[in-house]
Amino acid sequence: MVAFTEIKLHSQWIDFNEEKGMYKGTRTPSQEALEELIAADTDKKLREFTAQWFPFMSYIKSWEHPDFDDEVQAASDTRDLMLLVLELKRMADENDCSHESFERLGATFSRGGTEKHEQANFHYLASSESFSNYIRATTHCERIEKSFVEHYADNVMAKQQMIDDGYLFEDGSVYCPFATLSYASKEMILEDHLYLCGQEDKAESLDPDKRHPVMKFFGGNLGKGISCTEERAYFFIDSILRDCIQGLRIETDCGILAPKADTNFTSLWLCLSDSFREARVTACKTCGLPIIVTGERGAKRQYCNSTCKRKYKRALKFASLVNDEGMDLQDAAKKSGMATTTAARILERNGIYVNSVQ
Ligand SMILES: [Zn+2]
Repeated sequence: MVAFTEIKLHSQWIDFNEEKGMYKGTRTPSQEALEELIAADTDKKLREFTAQWFPFMSYIKSWEHPDFDDEVQAASDTRDLMLLVLELKRMADENDCSHESFERLGATFSRGGTEKHEQANFHYLASSESFSNYIRATTHCERIEKSFVEHYADNVMAKQQMIDDGYLFEDGSVYCPFATLSYASKEMILEDHLYLCGQEDKAESLDPDKRHPVMKFFGGNLGKGISCTEERAYFFIDSILRDCIQGLRIETDCGILAPKADTNFTSLWLCLSDSFREARVTACKTCGLPIIVTGERGAKRQYCNSTCKRKYKRALKFASLVNDEGMDLQDAAKKSGMATTTAARILERNGIYVNSVQ
């Protein structure tokens, strides 16, 4: 069986092999790169990650010069979606698939094909232009939009309805809810909640005169009995992964089938999918970021690293000083070596509350 982490990138010019006069494969993103992206929770870390895996979204040609800032945005979009997939996997692994758990992430539920069914969707507001163009190309969005418009072209009333509903614009362009990535107006984005939880500010700050890239992930039309179970989580996971691994190409190596990834972007998604073969996903007790746990023996892993483990110990000490010894918040912060707000945030994540009334 081929592990997809072994899949090489399509030839890259940076590693030109002088002797053979051909391009040899460069290093491809591995589990380590995946973990780096997950941990990149600041602009600085995202930039470092992007610089390492530049170009991220494009199949490199020597005459192409992708815009670095846009590539950083692409890495950020990718990270957002990967965090979503990892959280869904955690929910499935930890039996945490309630209606609330899905809605907390921004899923919208609606009536399904029959009374007995329920549909669910995720919408994601993307930022990067290269990311949007790439997804549109690999998932054939233009063709889908075109047939969507043509379907209503001869029906004057239906066409007017589409304009009224905000799907069809004066200039003939369209927001198609059946395409993986299509451009919607700010008005529609806000009204129909076409974004993930945590993207509220971003949605509010959009330019009302422009249209913005919205991705849609279908979570299935499931019987109500299994609507909020791991079935739903996996339906979403596969839906997101499918749209992000379309750059896997079949080529041959000395005549033998050899799949190749077109970009670092695709390669990274293959790594993620590959990690699900044997890993479970949990959330770090301290920072809340997902941990892909593999080869676990003995005690269950609860922290992403030893720094987070130490931080958690300090937060517990802070709680004990305040709650058990009645110490003042400021003094407890000093003694435990942790700022009050940081300690409170970590403790709250774990259902521990500190007495704030002194
Ligand atoms: Zn952590």
